[in-house]
Amino acid sequence: SSTPATSAPVAHNAMPPPSSVSAARSSRIAPHSHIKGLGLTPEGYANTDGAGFVGQTNAREACGVVVDLIKSRKFSGRALLLVGAPGTGKTALALAVSQELGIKVPFCPMVGSEVYSTEVKKTEVLAESFRRAIGLRIKETKDVYEGEVTELTPTEAENPLSGYGKTVSHVIVGLKTVKGTKQLRLDPSIYESILKEKIVVGDVIYIEHNSGAVKRVGRSDAYASSYDLESETYVPLPKGDVHKRKELVQDVTLGDLDAANARPQGGQDIMSVMGSLVKSGRTEVTEKLRKEVNKVVKGYVDQGVAEVVPGVVFIDEVHMLDIECFTYLNALLESAMAPTVIFATNRGNSLVRGTTDIVAPHGIPVDLLDRCLIVKTDSYKREDVGKVVQLRANVEGLKLGEGVLDRLALEGENSSLRYALQLLTPASILAGLAGRQAIEVEDINEMGELFLDAKTSASKISAASDGDVK
Ligand code: ATP
Repeated sequence: SSTPATSAPVAHNAMPPPSSVSAARSSRIAPHSHIKGLGLTPEGYANTDGAGFVGQTNAREACGVVVDLIKSRKFSGRALLLVGAPGTGKTALALAVSQELGIKVPFCPMVGSEVYSTEVKKTEVLAESFRRAIGLRIKETKDVYEGEVTELTPTEAENPLSGYGKTVSHVIVGLKTVKGTKQLRLDPSIYESILKEKIVVGDVIYIEHNSGAVKRVGRSDAYASSYDLESETYVPLPKGDVHKRKELVQDVTLGDLDAANARPQGGQDIMSVMGSLVKSGRTEVTEKLRKEVNKVVKGYVDQGVAEVVPGVVFIDEVHMLDIECFTYLNALLESAMAPTVIFATNRGNSLVRGTTDIVAPHGIPVDLLDRCLIVKTDSYKREDVGKVVQLRANVEGLKLGEGVLDRLALEGENSSLRYALQLLTPASILAGLAGRQAIEVEDINEMGELFLDAKTSASKISAASDGDVK
């Protein structure tokens, strides 16, 4: 069919993504959920705390300029390099840049050392991250049924093929539309989506009209086959009932499409449909497959059904990459569909990995460094640490007792903001064990007895004779 299949689950900063890779990515973003943007004034100043950001005004303003450059398409072939001590908000800044670029702009964070794997080539890991940082927004106008759910009856039955005993065999959904109530029998796969979306009786959902048997039930990305209970066959919903045209927007990334096409499954769920864009029978994402996916995507873009949304790829600890990666990055930066690239490092001059004699600033070869705008992040004062800790406590719903904030701010100033933040959750567990709602100073003290911050730990080890821990 010429209509693009849509609605693959997406790995971007707004929606919980499905795969374990994306799940790992979203858990990396979770500690930054209080960050909503760079928090700049319309003139580009960061004179106060804003959008969840505290202090770091120079870096935020500099990033604001980069956002303007990206938006006016004057940043292609270049990269942003964030330089600063651990926990000074480099990842938070990169995320904020992606948020400033628009809603649902993909943000794909990775760490330099991730490229070293025994199974996948280093350059492949980089290429995949770049593809995951390019979004595709698919817009379709569809005829849909809209109705209120009157019934939701999952039916369990023995499935002889599955070998797992009873599974949900189908789910009956009653749908009250303007034309009256109809009962639909939907595929079991839909049930998971119904659970995930927490669709309950009384919710208004829509089911997409299609010429085939595949229908969408939404608010969600869920798909279903509609089964006519009278004729006992799968049928497209009769056209006469269509009473609404709806603009549906789905966001996927090129990385999602590559992965889906590398492992085509066959079936009616959406990743399978997306997975058969190009010829099936592959098991891994190859350069050839990427080109084919690009071609199909270009077709959608030309038809005006899809729009490319370049996102942000963030490579933390960029000094961990080696010369081969850097060379490949130069090429990636030049490619036609490149996302915005943000690097971060806390190293000064160091050896470029993979070479024996090239020492360069931040361990990055000068030809790549030449392409970078460098922004420095500053260490935090006690007051700023306190504000960030309070923000995180609010987001995580933790209550702080008398003096706790001051104490954590002090800990943060002495070690790092990250350390202060990391104390929050275990301290709340200790408080819970003691039967208290709020974290008290004694919990922080106990944490101090149980765990060490990096500086204390290092000094203890160097104090021990010959560096042996006694
Ligand atoms: P590393 O180099 O170790 O990865 P980083 O510089 O990327 O560290 P982040 O991970 O961005 O540091 O920051 C640590 C935590 O502190 C995160 O939860 C982040 O959201 C928060 N944070 C850092 N700076 C700020 C800030 N200026 N305002 C609000 N929150 C901040």
